[in-house]
Amino acid sequence: MKDKISKVLFSLSETDLLIREQTDKCAEIERERATLYADLARSREKLEALEGKYKEAVSRHNLEDHRLKDEEAKIVERRKQLAALGGAKSAKLVERELDIATRVMETLEKSAAEASEEAERLTAELDDLKTKVEALESDFEEQTKEAESALQEATTELQGLEKTRNGLLEKLDDRLKNLYRRVSKRYSGDAVAKAIEGACRSCYRALPAQTWNQVMAGNMLIQCPGCNRVMVFVERTPS
Ligand SMILES: [Zn+2]
Repeated sequence: MKDKISKVLFSLSETDLLIREQTDKCAEIERERATLYADLARSREKLEALEGKYKEAVSRHNLEDHRLKDEEAKIVERRKQLAALGGAKSAKLVERELDIATRVMETLEKSAAEASEEAERLTAELDDLKTKVEALESDFEEQTKEAESALQEATTELQGLEKTRNGLLEKLDDRLKNLYRRVSKRYSGDAVAKAIEGACRSCYRALPAQTWNQVMAGNMLIQCPGCNRVMVFVERTPS
């Protein structure tokens, strides 16, 4: 009888250890997924900001282009007006006016070219970032699928383990069941200690003679005075 209960206790302890491992695995999967999602969200934000900058650059470029064309049209118009006026008298004036207009044009051309370059540079940057975000998105999708099937698997496994655990607990009387549950809260998956040759094998504390005698006699409700685990007598294996 006491051997049977010892076995139940050890099986329980093993089952609880497996439960803890599966639970940790689930948490790890969730953590990995959260990290990946945070990366993706950050990249999406960056992409959005860059898209905003790109739109600004394009509209700046359009504006500069517009101003340049306006100025060109104005010069053409002024040339026509001056030609119609004719006469050598105004030739110098015309020259000066056109000279000023040419310089204005040069400045405008330069800033239009700069705006165009900026827009081009941003296009390249935007393309890079889009590719990166797309890769992250497909990574995320794939990992999410993997995580989901891993979680599903772990959950099924956990359900089986819980069933085993409950079945094992049912084999214990109420006092031992309660003791085991209480100790398990502190030592999840490691609530049972082997007592071998008068010592606890979990914390290596030597047991007082009276405790050791109780454990040897098969009393399962004895806790180790060192670590508080449930003590189970194990015969010394001859080596
Ligand atoms: Zn101990």
